[in-house]
Amino acid sequence: MTSISKNIDQIRGRIADACGNSGRHPADIRLVAVSKVKPAELIDEAFAAGQQLFGESYVQEFRDKEPTVRSPVEWHFIGALQSNKVKYLRGKVTLIHSVDRFSLAKEINQQWGKIDAVAPILLQVNVGDENSKAGCAIAELPELTSKVAALPHLKIHGLMCLPPYFDDPEQVRPYFRQLRELAARIVEEQIPGVSMKELSMGMSGDFEVAIEEGATLVRIGTAIFGERN
Ligand SMILES: *Cc1c(COP(=O)(O)O)cnc(C)c1O
Repeated sequence: MTSISKNIDQIRGRIADACGNSGRHPADIRLVAVSKVKPAELIDEAFAAGQQLFGESYVQEFRDKEPTVRSPVEWHFIGALQSNKVKYLRGKVTLIHSVDRFSLAKEINQQWGKIDAVAPILLQVNVGDENSKAGCAIAELPELTSKVAALPHLKIHGLMCLPPYFDDPEQVRPYFRQLRELAARIVEEQIPGVSMKELSMGMSGDFEVAIEEGATLVRIGTAIFGERN
């Protein structure tokens, strides 16, 4: 067994344990293996170990690497996204986690329109209100949601957050809970075409807490592929 396959097995076990602690079902949690900065060979290795879904953060890197990955993997885009680079993702990713402004949503709508398709997206929320982080402000989320929902070539499936960093994952819990509560509030507004089924939250250091708070997508890099240099 390679270390990547061991790591993946361990994480799947920890996901199952977190589900057991919170009355959830492991089939309702998808593991996004965050492969940014890691070479194509390691992605093929993870695929061989049963991991099909991968997350990338940098468009240029994704563009270069994607054609060199031999396995038929599924890609999500999870990083900060400039509108002029959206075209490189068109039709290649099955979910964009990081939509945080209307201008970006409009460009995604335009690009997916060219292939007569609908782009699945999540709205990223800056739950910690940190200047250094992307994401729309909590107060702006309802308006952004209704504006984006009106675009025909894009569909909102839920919310994503990148909360402040703490060594102790328990300190992140309130932010995860807040994302879940924001999603519930949007559901109450019954905006046509908007689903809040997906909550993308939790990384290597805190994914168990995120699962306990309702995560459906956990984005895990370091705990699978090791430290990034
Ligand atoms: C890098 C990254 C991750 C993975 O972080 P790890 O701590 O390595 O698991 C998750 N989400 C986003 C948005 C990232 O950029």
